[in-house]
Amino acid sequence: MDFREIRTIEDLEKIYPKHILEKFPISGRGIFEGTKDEDWYDWKWQLKNRITTLPMLKKAINVTGNEEKAYDACSKKFKMAITPYYSALMDRDDPECPIRKQSVPNVAEMNILKTDMADPLAEERDMPVPGLTHRYPDRVLFYASNDCPMLCRHCTRKRKVANESADAKDKQIEAGLDYIRKTKRVRDVVVSGGDPLCLNNDKIDYILGELRKIEHVEVVRLGTRNPCTLPIRLRDDKLLEILEKHQPIHVNTHYNHPKECTREALLANTRLSLAGCTVGNQTVLLRNVNDNANIMLKLNHLLLLMKVRPYYIFQCDLSEGISHFRTKVSVGLEILEKMRGWTSGLAIPYYVVDSPGGGGKIPLTPNYVVSHDGNKLVLRNYKNVEFTYHEPIN
Ligand SMILES: *Cc1c(COP(=O)(O)O)cnc(C)c1O
Ligand code: SF4
Repeated sequence: MDFREIRTIEDLEKIYPKHILEKFPISGRGIFEGTKDEDWYDWKWQLKNRITTLPMLKKAINVTGNEEKAYDACSKKFKMAITPYYSALMDRDDPECPIRKQSVPNVAEMNILKTDMADPLAEERDMPVPGLTHRYPDRVLFYASNDCPMLCRHCTRKRKVANESADAKDKQIEAGLDYIRKTKRVRDVVVSGGDPLCLNNDKIDYILGELRKIEHVEVVRLGTRNPCTLPIRLRDDKLLEILEKHQPIHVNTHYNHPKECTREALLANTRLSLAGCTVGNQTVLLRNVNDNANIMLKLNHLLLLMKVRPYYIFQCDLSEGISHFRTKVSVGLEILEKMRGWTSGLAIPYYVVDSPGGGGKIPLTPNYVVSHDGNKLVLRNYKNVEFTYHEPIN
């Protein structure tokens, strides 16, 4: 099968059985009902028609007093922008809707704690050149764009995203490429942002092409939330041809809730796989959005059906204005405890804290070691049954 044969959600019937397809609801168009297909399925139209003002938001949902106040108070600090596609997934009446919570400003964003930071991961400190963070020995994070299809309320990079003054200028991209060219220990480049798929196709082709010319670069990754918030971007054959041309490419995306797993998302991820990409997912653990094991299990099961491999669950960072999304670490550990052994290992991501101050990602896991005495190791399994393992004496 070729991605050129799978262009619409109807084409998915050529690949998947009906009972699998039925797990992925076909999304509507919300207040954009009546839009012509050629507009709706045009990613540039989607970006141009994002919901960015209160009157538009009021058409899409029944805005609560809190949300109205929050719009006035917060949207100067961190703009609101919701793609038409993603807006159609919002519940009109329920302010607790997980899609709404990720999209619509909340007054709690004004509550900046003493422990909050603009750049909690010290990404700016570890920049050998502007627009590139080199923290780990063999890989770099390369910010190719400061735009995103939608501006997520829980974003950890609020300081950069949608900030014109921090725009990744062409010069910056050149400086990043130069740094990678001359730094032989860079084996792996995570092209991120913002969202690199917000760049036009020629720019993406150029960046990937330049990276592929560098012999010490093996792994090229794309960090993008487009498959979730603007899956229509992946209907673009031109883009997929570019991805196909520069293989191997690993895409890492960002789904947080089963409601985001629509038929359109399935199409996007199917086309990415057909173009030769592997797709992984990082989820942010968000209070009252996905902070329980049932939701996480359901999400990860749906991801696997889209051939998206759960990779990370992030403990919510200490970025400014997102404290209302943070959970205790024990919540994350409990979720993992309810996954390991109870479901496919493939569905279980690493739970990590990206350490404040720039120490990198630190994995956390429930403790399965009951005691370790000399060469005698007592372990517990997922059902809390204990087993003894004897290590070699020398
Ligand atoms: C997350 C991250 C990476 C990639 O880390 P992996 O664990 O290899 O996925 C690279 N650089 C920075 C600065 C990062 O934050
Ligand atoms: S897509 Fe990622 S970088 Fe962009 S606003 Fe959302 S969380 Fe932030």
